[in-house]
Amino acid sequence: MDFEYSPKVQALRQNLEAFIERFVLPYNGAWHRSVAQGVYPPPFMEDLKALARAEGLWNLFLPGLRSDEPGQRLNNLEYAPLAEIMGRLPWASEVFNCSAPDTGNMELLHLFATPQQSQQWLRPLLDGEIRSAFAMSEPDVASSDPTNLQTTVRQEGEQLVLNGRKWFITGAAHPQCKLLIVMCRSGGNELDKHDRHSMVLVPVDTPGVELVRNIPILQHHAPEGHCEIVFRNVRVPLTNLLGAQGAGFAMAQARLGPGRIHHCMRSIGQCELALALLCDRTLERQVFGKILADFANVQEWIADSRLEIDQARLLVLRAAWRLDQAQTELDRQQARVDVSAIKVVAARLQTRVVDRAMQVFGAMGMSPDTPLAYFWTWGRAMHLMDGPDEVHLRTVARHELTHAKDVSRGNGRLLYAA
Ligand SMILES: Cc1cc2nc3c(=O)[nH]c(=O)nc-3n(C[C@H](O)[C@H](O)[C@H](O)COP(=O)(O)OP(=O)(O)OC[C@H]3O[C@@H](n4cnc5c(N)ncnc54)[C@H](O)[C@@H]3O)c2cc1C
Repeated sequence: MDFEYSPKVQALRQNLEAFIERFVLPYNGAWHRSVAQGVYPPPFMEDLKALARAEGLWNLFLPGLRSDEPGQRLNNLEYAPLAEIMGRLPWASEVFNCSAPDTGNMELLHLFATPQQSQQWLRPLLDGEIRSAFAMSEPDVASSDPTNLQTTVRQEGEQLVLNGRKWFITGAAHPQCKLLIVMCRSGGNELDKHDRHSMVLVPVDTPGVELVRNIPILQHHAPEGHCEIVFRNVRVPLTNLLGAQGAGFAMAQARLGPGRIHHCMRSIGQCELALALLCDRTLERQVFGKILADFANVQEWIADSRLEIDQARLLVLRAAWRLDQAQTELDRQQARVDVSAIKVVAARLQTRVVDRAMQVFGAMGMSPDTPLAYFWTWGRAMHLMDGPDEVHLRTVARHELTHAKDVSRGNGRLLYAA
């Protein structure tokens, strides 16, 4: 395993950093003012997107892009350090058409859409003309176990009819969100529980789709939304079924791996920024005759944060590398375990490192005058979104136990006995 950034990635990192420094950061204040006034996305967003695309900083995430599709054709390992850079400024990903949940949705469409579905939805997503959301979780069932999901889809002639309620659907309040990919129950109990769900492409403006509310995350209102959505007799053509009927879970597996790597690397970018802010603050703030940096406990927080960030980054890069290299089903299983591991590690990292930074900033750390309160809120949400920590730990533990059983069938335990 070699995680040295290639010359191509180094060049992209430099270009991306320079672009953000020169064109995106200067708009940060204006972005927040605009959103506070209810103008979202701000009027300059389209200009920034056009500029980023012209500079070749567009669709940096999708490895399998075809020659007529815009983007850099980077694999997960190559994209990871770029996601880290974008993550430092949470609204920056949109400038480069690399926002969640669009990246995962484009990946999904790229793998499973028919030519007609690609033309209608994937192409405008790749061109940054529309946004999308992925609607899986439901208020009425424990969505950690998606086999519980109850929203139904049934076929009536040449149409599909959807009924149900989803919530925390990220991105659905974005004015350019035109597509919901909805996970629905399509089969009965006679089927294996992993073959009972299907994905359906639902245009947001279909009659019967109601955006009930944008749910705040703690005190944070995301302008793109984490929405509750009701589907009442929503009718779409039969051709809006994505992939095969009953293949919802198999397809979701394909979508979630890279998407989680992107989340984790953005998280590491935010932790790097939190640590940099923490260090700056400790070098200038004085208490009891010393700067904060002179206190042993603060030095320990700084050192622990550096060790933890570097460990996490290496683990995420390994997961990205495994995902890229996977050839067999066994490789893919191993990659899924790694992705579960980083999902837990990154969430823990973010709440821990940002919490230390908030403590060092005193009351200011809880205010909107630094990005720390937002970073912490997002870190807290990461313990839940894309599956709670416990589910991912279970995946890692099961893998470990399977391995242990294999070893005990061999002679691994003999060493211990001796
Ligand atoms: C900011 C944010 C954005 C989100 N975006 C989206 C989105 O775009 N689309 C979407 O569909 N969903 C989204 N979600 C929803 C998220 O995926 C779910 O909240 C998550 O999967 C957990 O489901 P649940 O809330 O129903 O919790 P439940 O399933 O009710 O679980 C509750 C708790 O049970 C415990 N638990 C669960 N399983 C186990 C286990 N195996 N062992 C031990 N304990 C366990 C855990 O502590 C868990 O937190 C988002 C959530 C947040 C917070």
